[in-house]
Amino acid sequence: MTGVSVVNLVKKFGSTVAVAGVDLWIEAGTLFFLLGPSGCGKTTLLRMIAGFETPNSGMIRFGDREVTKHPPEKRDAGMVFQGYALWPHLSVFENVAFGLRVRKVPNADLQRRVGEALELVQMNGYENRKPTQLSGGQQQRVALARALAFRPSVLLLDEPLSNLDAKLRLEMRSEIRRIVDDAQITTIYVTHDQEEALSLADQMAVLRDGKIVQTGGPRELYDGPNSRFTASFLGETNFVEGTVESIGTDGTTVTSALGRLRSSRVLENSAIGDTISLSLRPEALRIIDPANDATKVPAEWNRAATTLNSSMFLGETAQLELQGEGDTKLKVLELHPRVLRPTGTALEVAIDPADVVLLSE
Ligand code: ATP
Repeated sequence: MTGVSVVNLVKKFGSTVAVAGVDLWIEAGTLFFLLGPSGCGKTTLLRMIAGFETPNSGMIRFGDREVTKHPPEKRDAGMVFQGYALWPHLSVFENVAFGLRVRKVPNADLQRRVGEALELVQMNGYENRKPTQLSGGQQQRVALARALAFRPSVLLLDEPLSNLDAKLRLEMRSEIRRIVDDAQITTIYVTHDQEEALSLADQMAVLRDGKIVQTGGPRELYDGPNSRFTASFLGETNFVEGTVESIGTDGTTVTSALGRLRSSRVLENSAIGDTISLSLRPEALRIIDPANDATKVPAEWNRAATTLNSSMFLGETAQLELQGEGDTKLKVLELHPRVLRPTGTALEVAIDPADVVLLSE
């Protein structure tokens, strides 16, 4: 297995800086996600790793082999494009065999490898069909088989599920994870869909304006974002401004419009008196109902008085908007809602200090 490293990579298109000095280390055999909003440079970064774009500066290595100036066919990387790019006039077999024919693989070997690749994506039996005779999900599998048939050391996926409907997208998510695990291949996966990344990634990098904002595992980034950008890009959250009141070994106390809030975290380089942001996830906020024991929370949790602005019943959950002191609006996700409360109801809301995330920007 081969790891991939990228050092200070830059790509400009005229005056647009698409990739503005990216450093990455992708460990061999892992599924690594490049995640970010439209235009942040993730496709350009992937295309440079594939060899379809030449960087202005910087270096790309597959293992200890530098490939920065190698053409795509000399890189040993298989790529799956957004629209699959299957040849419509060729059969499934010939689509998958294409890369092997280009590499002049002997026929017996070619037959075996196409068979193995189709088996890996569970498409054996479809060899003679044309791509137009396949569903979107099946075409996607063939595109994966084609990328895997010549046994590349790196697999590159550019929004591979974007053309599928929601149900198929969910199915193919776990399929991709299985295929990557079975093939034991280092995989770089580009998406703007945070759920796709959170559910599949071993490691991920969040990009903004051509730069990496943060890298880490899904849980690490979701629970410990280093900026408002990462916090809000990875899911819904509430931002509340606050002033650092005290810092101790067991956490930080912040004064905010919601009152004094304890966080069990300490923000690097923060000092008493600093203005900071707090990120409070809707699912981490808990409604306290004096009539319902199940909503009791431990004594060390933070509590704040609010009133109910609106609530939307969604079956398994309800989305509430609460209003706290100083016009602070809070979105709260209530699991398994039992009662529908009228607008204007006074509600106490609580949050575990472990879930109060401190952000300096
Ligand atoms: P999306 O999710 O919409 O595909 P992305 O994050 O993949 O976006 P890129 O396609 O890498 O973003 O584009 C990054 C920036 O570079 C954008 O501002 C884009 O307009 C610009 N860009 C990309 N390719 C070219 C090109 N061939 N010529 C000029 N500008 C380009």
